[in-house]
Amino acid sequence: MSWAPTPPPTPHAVSRLRAERLARSAKPFLARGGPKGERCAGCRLVPSHCICALRPAVPTRAGMCLLMADIEPLKPSNTGWLIADVVADTYAFGWARTEVQPGLLALLADPAWQPVVVFPGEFVTPERVVHDLAVPRAGAEPASAKRPLFILLDATWPEARKMFRKSPYLDRFPVLSLAPEQISRYQLRRSRRDDHFCTSEVASLCLELAGEAQAAQVLDAYLDVFTRHYLQSKHQLPVAADDPTHLRLQAVAQRSG
Ligand SMILES: [Zn+2]
Repeated sequence: MSWAPTPPPTPHAVSRLRAERLARSAKPFLARGGPKGERCAGCRLVPSHCICALRPAVPTRAGMCLLMADIEPLKPSNTGWLIADVVADTYAFGWARTEVQPGLLALLADPAWQPVVVFPGEFVTPERVVHDLAVPRAGAEPASAKRPLFILLDATWPEARKMFRKSPYLDRFPVLSLAPEQISRYQLRRSRRDDHFCTSEVASLCLELAGEAQAAQVLDAYLDVFTRHYLQSKHQLPVAADDPTHLRLQAVAQRSG
């Protein structure tokens, strides 16, 4: 696949968070975009494997609020970035035990949103746990209905547990625990064996629960394209624009567009 420069996309929330975090980084090689040279500012891949031109646009009613562990925005493989690419209303905040960003508190207090924390139910008091969202039927939706805002802890599992425990401002919100049936359906569809999903896969499951099946599929297909480009670039191999991952993204993005 040949690389033609695409106009730089407007930096989204994760991109901005990464830039802020890089500015604070003590390691200068990170600030240069890695020892191996140039990275595309729009997708973090090397220019020859840029996916900016493939970024799908799909309208979603749901929003995503990423609470990111300190190092997470710096990881080139972080998939919170992909969520922000696809879901227009994606917010991202760096998490710290000792401080909360005012922007996060304002977002959580915004009456337009119904925040739900996505976390395994077995670690939470049962009265807080929900397995489903009350999704209004299309067309019959009252104008005042709040939009779901999924709070995703973008971190390793031990970090996520700590973040969950030490964020008292999340205590008032319901906890969405993904049901085993939904998880196994997803594993079947994606030919996945384990249930250690990456953040963008969790977001996709949430979109599905919110009744946004096509957006969920687009995000999955986009993750596959990203993964393909990422791995091929690691091995310095080209990507074919018409391989199955690209064709699937094209198909699902068109259907939803
Ligand atoms: Zn790019």
